[in-house]
Amino acid sequence: MRAVQLIKFGAPQEALQYTELPDPTPGPGEVLVKIEAAGVCGRDLVVRKGAFPHVKPPIIPGHEGVGKVIDVGAGVERDLIGMRVFLSAIYDGTCDYCRRGFENLCRNAELLGEMRNGTYGEYVVIPAKFAHPFHGVDPKAAVLATCPISTAVYVLKHIDVERKKVLVVGAGGTGIYIAQLAKVRGAEVYVSTRSPEKASVLKELGLGVATEGEKDFDVVIDTVGAPTLERSLKLAKRAGAVVVIGNVTGEKALLSPALVILRQLRVIGSMAFRPWDIYEALDLLKRGLIKPLYVEYKLQDAAKAHEDMERGRVMGRAVLLP
Ligand SMILES: [Zn+2]
Ligand SMILES: [Zn+2]
Repeated sequence: MRAVQLIKFGAPQEALQYTELPDPTPGPGEVLVKIEAAGVCGRDLVVRKGAFPHVKPPIIPGHEGVGKVIDVGAGVERDLIGMRVFLSAIYDGTCDYCRRGFENLCRNAELLGEMRNGTYGEYVVIPAKFAHPFHGVDPKAAVLATCPISTAVYVLKHIDVERKKVLVVGAGGTGIYIAQLAKVRGAEVYVSTRSPEKASVLKELGLGVATEGEKDFDVVIDTVGAPTLERSLKLAKRAGAVVVIGNVTGEKALLSPALVILRQLRVIGSMAFRPWDIYEALDLLKRGLIKPLYVEYKLQDAAKAHEDMERGRVMGRAVLLP
């Protein structure tokens, strides 16, 4: 099959190689999925740079994928063949976190595209349990539900934003969906972005664009990380909340504890999502409540997609089409 492999850590053109690899075959309990659309996550950029010690090249990156089951391994219902599925994170379902409903924090998670071959290829093999049948949403839009929109769904489970003044910091592939969903949930939403093109898209979506002097937000959702975190804490009003979900540069942030104490802020982390948040995300797409924004790339142009994302040029999501 044709696939893009991470052959070493580094810049997109050196690290990502479009190549021919043997077709994978499903083992016991697994399915073979023909990928129809794969999303390029901000996390993929961090993986490519070598920030995660558990990633050992060569490996096919990508955890966001939608496709059709074309073969099954031993012990898997043959009825699955031909079904359109989305892929979810692989968890054990038995550890103390999974048992408390935090499958996203599983101690034994096996990360697709990081610990086993991912979705930047024509085919991927995954345990059948993590290939979830669905219908009614176009694969290119559905792939957005497998990470950015489900991330938004989960973020807004940590905090009620109804009738609150909310700032979303960053209009990247996740921020744009958090902002849309916060509006659906009844918030007055502002988004901060430096890109004039993104600002005009935000306005078309009926979202506010934050201007310099704007402050006193009930909730600030930071999708960037170290470069913006201190400012996000300052923009939250007293007794407000700051949700931290972005780590774009992977750098550390230097913060004054007084900022959190004197403003009596709640600082909340939110890590990815659970598989059922993806169904909720698909439902939001089906009902037309979230507008799917993405840019299509051919699979062989994955490195270009990474470059464009790093320059902040991609509106919504880069979607790779094999
Ligand atoms: Zn993702
Ligand atoms: Zn677990």
